[in-house]
Amino acid sequence: METAFTIPSQSELADEINRMCGENVNLCYQCRKCSAGCPVSYAMDYPPAQLIHAIRLGLDDLVFHSRTMWMCASCETCSTRCPQEVDIAKVMDAVKIIGLRKGKKPAVPRVATFDKVMVNHIKNFGRMFELGMIMNLKLKTREFLKDAELGMTMFRKGKLKMVPRFKGARTARRIYSRVKRIEKRGRREAV
Ligand code: SF4
Ligand code: SF4
Repeated sequence: METAFTIPSQSELADEINRMCGENVNLCYQCRKCSAGCPVSYAMDYPPAQLIHAIRLGLDDLVFHSRTMWMCASCETCSTRCPQEVDIAKVMDAVKIIGLRKGKKPAVPRVATFDKVMVNHIKNFGRMFELGMIMNLKLKTREFLKDAELGMTMFRKGKLKMVPRFKGARTARRIYSRVKRIEKRGRREAV
């Protein structure tokens, strides 16, 4: 988006985010509407506006060690409220991916594990297979009894299916492979 408020980027991370998802955090003028509307900012160490500012200042260490993007629920309230039309939810995802690619340890490992397990399930089954996903998650986190009561309630209400349905699995795998190919090509071109 072209605007008179844009200033040249001083941050390699901001440029990398722009290349990855097309969002320009340098458009931000710190109105903080994103932070004011974020329903989970109470659980973040830096509200969304502060994280965006840290990206612009090139404070990579602070950004990659932050809990903020890992606590983000991708609700897109911030993206809708931003007067500069910065899709902050997209930026949050990009920061997570860039951090992982750089070998940075996620500040909330449980969320990173959940993301990985979920993507694998969608890739293999074409949709969420909740029971299998919970079992995988328990094995990875070793938190076998956490949320057991909630799980039983969901099971009793028929929310957890015993067997996966493979409808759409082939399409999901095709999409996944195509995205991987595009990402690889993008990374080669960026070098
Ligand atoms: S998308 Fe994330 S950062 Fe934005 S309002 Fe929702 S939870 Fe907060
Ligand atoms: S709403 Fe947009 S312009 Fe305002 S602080 Fe957040 S990112 Fe910056």
